Amino acid sequence: MTRITPQPGIMDISLYQSGAAHVAGISNSIKLSSNENPLGPSDLAIEAYKRAAFDLHRYPSSDHSSLRAAIAEVLDLDAERIICGAGSDEIIAFLCNAFAGPGDEVIHTEHGFAMYRISALAAGATPVEVPEKERITDVDAILAACTDKTKLVFIANPNNPTGTMIGLAEMERLASGLPTQAMLVLDGAYAEFVDGYDGGAALVSARDNVFMTRTFSKLYGLGSLRIGWGYGPAEIIDVMNRIRGPFNLSQSGLDTAEAALRDVAYAEHCRAENAKWRTWMANALAEIGVQSDVSHANFILARFGSSQEADACDEYLKATGLIVRKVAGYNLPKALRITVGDESACRRVVHAVRNFKAGEDT
Ligand SMILES: *Cc1c(COP(=O)(O)O)cnc(C)c1O
Repeated sequence: MTRITPQPGIMDISLYQSGAAHVAGISNSIKLSSNENPLGPSDLAIEAYKRAAFDLHRYPSSDHSSLRAAIAEVLDLDAERIICGAGSDEIIAFLCNAFAGPGDEVIHTEHGFAMYRISALAAGATPVEVPEKERITDVDAILAACTDKTKLVFIANPNNPTGTMIGLAEMERLASGLPTQAMLVLDGAYAEFVDGYDGGAALVSARDNVFMTRTFSKLYGLGSLRIGWGYGPAEIIDVMNRIRGPFNLSQSGLDTAEAALRDVAYAEHCRAENAKWRTWMANALAEIGVQSDVSHANFILARFGSSQEADACDEYLKATGLIVRKVAGYNLPKALRITVGDESACRRVVHAVRNFKAGEDT
């Protein structure tokens, strides 16, 4: 028996469950379990990725200046206040490792993203789960849960897996009400899907206790490359850079992300297609008795009458080659999260759920 023991908290971490990608015995299955862009990345991004192949012997940029400058230019932000990470997952880890430790509390919401809890525990801090109100972030409940030990408050806006979001006034009220030692982290993984929403960037610029995380994994279709970034107060960015590995991103990732970001027309096309098929799928499912909250992201949270029905529908979909996401681990056992695919995928989902429902009645 080894006497080499892990740090406190580590063994409380349950392994992250990623979305399934295949069904045994089915070749033309469609993966709708990880909120990936069904249209893939921009052609310009793919070109940049291919070009990067010729420089694989070189170490990547360690200050990410070119990508940070591009983000600053396209989104009108201050490049000095941007930090890039291996996915926004790594930004979340930097925040927890730099600002929360044993004795500190890290707040996340009832149906919030699993990485907040995982990264808090990995840092030795105590995750604190706060209820949501009908699957919507509850600012009053969060403020009531704050103590003098609260260091970080994570909310995804729009939230995953609910797809709901709170408005600017509520975000502001939350930031204003926090104890002075606590920072609000707005996870904007799905911000690009919301027309006219800046992910909370203006709030970050205006205050010294708000941080925003963003990713290239969702709208930009680059989940494989692991590129995310954060925007925050200059002092916070400085602290985080001290624990960031100097070569945490590959040059191919940096170049590809920059090309994707600059292809504004393609991003707009993806946003519009997502909105169109999201509405279509949500309405079509509602017509056959499967309700969902209005989603602001690239998935919908389909609600069933019971956890048994949700599980049975998941099995039925799987048998027809449609892979969606069970979210019992997010305290939503009666629901399934379904990524908005392309037109044919959305039609297949509705067709299959209709058949499943019809089968239940017989
Ligand atoms: C997908 C997702 C992320 C992060 O993804 P990365 O690929 O690590 O950038 C972060 N937050 C939420 C809420 C997500 O759904």
